[in-house]
Order: sequence, then structure tokens, then C-alpha cells
Amino acid sequence: MSTSTRPASTPSRHRGDTITTAGVSGLYVGTTAGGVVWIAYEGDDFQTMCAAFDARGERTCDGCHQIRTDVQSVGRDSDGAPDSPDLCGACRGDEGEDEEIPLAA
Ligand SMILES: [Zn+2]
Repeated sequence: MSTSTRPASTPSRHRGDTITTAGVSGLYVGTTAGGVVWIAYEGDDFQTMCAAFDARGERTCDGCHQIRTDVQSVGRDSDGAPDSPDLCGACRGDEGEDEEIPLAA
């Protein structure tokens, strides 16, 4: 498909992870649907970049690891724990919502 030098499999990354590229460390912000990895190299940039990235509406699905714009946090942790998975519409099972299931007679 492309001759990108990125590894075929995308390692699981989480926002705030330290990413080192070419000997320079930064904080991982996110990866766009176009495959561009956003890394904040200055601490002050991190929050700004996170806000800008979130404004794009693209997030990585924890289920299929694809970057989509319909990813939402799911889970019903009553404590509001932040470890609920983020799943896209397909992984949440939203697809086929309008599908009519014939009733067995
Ligand atoms: Zn998914």
C-alpha cells in the first residue's frame, strides 16, 4: 500500500506515554487517521496539542485499533474510573442498528 517505514503493527500507545524518536523524547498525544503521530516535545505543548487533537474528533479504538471519528468511551464504572475502553461504532455494535430482524413465526 505504502512504502512507509512505520512498523505494520501499531503498538498500543496511550496519551502521555513517553515516545522517543531519533533520540528525542516527547509525550504521545495521538495518531491521526492519516497516520501522523502527534508528539509534544515541550511539556507546555502537551495540553495544547491534546486539545487540538481532540478537536479533530479522531481517536483510536481500543477494540480494532483503527482511528475513527466515531470513537466513544464506553463502560459504566460508577466511580468514574478513566480506564473505560474507547470503542468505535462498529465495536460498540452500533452498526446494523436499522437492520430489521424478521420475527420467527
Ligand atoms: Zn473499533
